[in-house]
Amino acid sequence: MEKKAGGAYGTLWVVATPIGNLGDQTPRARDLLQRVPIIAAEDTRVTRRLVPRRCAEPRWFSINEHNEIKQLPALLDALCDGQDVALVSDAGTPLVSDPGYRLVVAAHEAGVRVSPLPGPCAAIAALSVAGLASDRFWFEGFLPARSSARRSRLAALKEVPVTLIFHVPARDLVDVLQDASAVMGAARHAAMARELTKLHETVIRKPLASLLALCRSQPEQSRGEVVLMIAGSDQRRSTIDADALADELAAELPPSRAAGILARLTGLSRKQAWAVIERCRQPESEGDTLTGSP
Ligand code: SAM
Repeated sequence: MEKKAGGAYGTLWVVATPIGNLGDQTPRARDLLQRVPIIAAEDTRVTRRLVPRRCAEPRWFSINEHNEIKQLPALLDALCDGQDVALVSDAGTPLVSDPGYRLVVAAHEAGVRVSPLPGPCAAIAALSVAGLASDRFWFEGFLPARSSARRSRLAALKEVPVTLIFHVPARDLVDVLQDASAVMGAARHAAMARELTKLHETVIRKPLASLLALCRSQPEQSRGEVVLMIAGSDQRRSTIDADALADELAAELPPSRAAGILARLTGLSRKQAWAVIERCRQPESEGDTLTGSP
């Protein structure tokens, strides 16, 4: 990837990297990081671990929210001089709650080609396993750190009809769940995906109040990295009613009769209804919980 013939510009490659399991690095990303002359990384020490052995050391730039503007001229000069640049964040897809937006804008404005090397993204990975509506969604990223500002933002999102996706620092998880439950309603369906692709991967799908109770009683749920998803306002009624009905039936009737009624009223097959009733009858279980990673 030396200077292109005819004075052509280089390409700005936007490279996704693993969010935990290094096996998720794509062959294209590995290949590019082995050859590209310039790597613009959020933290060069983190990205170095992903770069395979190479003949010549790349030129490293560190870009973060504080210095991105300062680094632009040198990176644009290199791109306009025909050199390719790989933009990488610490984990996942650059620009998604990560640096790189200003560089991408500047590259477009300079007429430089910007091309993605797609791969891991925590929000999308979380949505894919949440069991909440995924046909449309709203990615919100991080909520404000202060509770009053966070509650205002949650109130503004309360009637959004599609699944909401949040990045949550694990240490704030209990506070965020408490605010979300207070503002959006304790019964609103939600899911949290923690430590995805890592040893302690956990995916839990429960109403907000139950998630809050679980995280309060199990401090380990507040460790690591978490994506919280909250059902959109239009999923509230039908989903909650079906679950509440199953709970009531399981508490009041023998399982076979409860499953029969649930199947009739919800359109589930008898086998599916039986599984739901069995789950309701095990109050100590964590509901739809999945742990571990291959
Ligand atoms: N750009 C990244 C991406 O595409 O995934 C997101 C970066 S953002 C600074 C970091 C947040 O992503 C964390 O606070 C957490 O919400 C989420 N995250 C990152 N890795 C994760 C993982 N392995 N499991 C769950 N959430 C994760």
